[in-house]
Amino acid sequence: MRVHLTATAAAAVRRGHPWVYRDGIAGGGNAAHPGERRRGERAPRGGGAAAAAASGDVVELSAEGAPFLGRGLWDADSAIAVRVFQRAQAPALDERALAERLERAFALRDGWFDGRDTTAYRLCNGEGDRVPSLVIDRYDRVAVIRLDGGMLAPWLERLLPHLARALGARGVRSIGLRARVSAASGDAEGKKLAHLHGPPLPDRLFVRETGVAMEVDLARGQKTGAFLDQRDNRARVRALAGGRRRVLNLFSYAGGFSVAAALGGAGRVTSVDSAPAAHASAQRTFRENGVDPAAHDFVTADAFDFLEKARGRGDRYDLVICDPPSFAPSERAKPRALGAYRRLHTAVARVLDRGGVLCAASCSSHIAMEDFLATLDDATLERDDLRVRAIHGQPEDHPTLPAWWEGRYLKFVVLE
Ligand code: SAH
Repeated sequence: MRVHLTATAAAAVRRGHPWVYRDGIAGGGNAAHPGERRRGERAPRGGGAAAAAASGDVVELSAEGAPFLGRGLWDADSAIAVRVFQRAQAPALDERALAERLERAFALRDGWFDGRDTTAYRLCNGEGDRVPSLVIDRYDRVAVIRLDGGMLAPWLERLLPHLARALGARGVRSIGLRARVSAASGDAEGKKLAHLHGPPLPDRLFVRETGVAMEVDLARGQKTGAFLDQRDNRARVRALAGGRRRVLNLFSYAGGFSVAAALGGAGRVTSVDSAPAAHASAQRTFRENGVDPAAHDFVTADAFDFLEKARGRGDRYDLVICDPPSFAPSERAKPRALGAYRRLHTAVARVLDRGGVLCAASCSSHIAMEDFLATLDDATLERDDLRVRAIHGQPEDHPTLPAWWEGRYLKFVVLE
């Protein structure tokens, strides 16, 4: 199957960008109706050729003056029509080629984590490890797979023996698949984890992260169970927490930043999240680390409401961590998202003591660093005593590609 690209899409592929959107297909990928033509049936020229492809089919990419740009996999349903796997004239795009890429991703990590202090990390970061769409997170003896888009689902069965072997050699016993939960089903409380290989998967387990125990809810938690991308930043918060009297962790989820602050020597840590189950998990994590949760506060509330009330009470904090869910799921949502960050940061600054530290995070790739910093400027924070002490992002087990800016989503700004 051959897919002919527009000049713009071809240039992006040459730069190493791993995605071809439907409108990057010459002759109107937008007009493609994948369901209408049966597989193997002769297709017309241009974008129409792609209309015959099914999700997971190998496609060869070409453009004006470039008979072979590379190979990718077709996705019949996603806005991203092709994920690009190969640019050079490699012999084939088959499960051997994918297994080699995966082995490379796993082997890199062998040298990064010692397996004692940190037992949870990302084994494969999809596009960033040049295995587009495939994310694999390790939680000690369990690996959890997440697929973005539908093109790798037909490959999974063939890849599983390779995965079981490569991961088994590294001490992983069980492999699970995180189901894609459609927003429409609203099944937030239902189980999202399917068993693929090995002993049954536990619903919950404890892992270690830079020496700190952390409960992970594999069955019902967010992402593949935990936000592994904040590991280094949690360690940073631990280092910042010494001698702080009152710490506020907004959008605290399973309490990763909270327990880091408590272990770092903070007096009292207040965790705020709208989900009560998250607090239950956080409290088990506190106990596992020998910290009495009764000495700290866990507030089930909307963060904006909480800040309003805290200000009214005159509460002040000398360390605030603010790590909200993505406010900008799309480019279109950007202006509204920036407004939400601004409102949030204004409210946060009102409860931040003089001399306090603010850690502000954003996990949206559509918000560029400078745009995010603009939501932390003097006008927004209504004060002029803070400076940007440090800017951090995601850890090394979440690699990206130079051309794949979408992969660099995490921003973690420390103001003091
Ligand atoms: N900081 C966390 C990850 C945060 S995920 C970590 O490092 O692990 C976002 C969290 O925000 C979720 O737990 C969700 O329940 C919570 N949340 C979403 N909207 C909220 C709101 N308006 N107020 C409070 N919590 C909210």
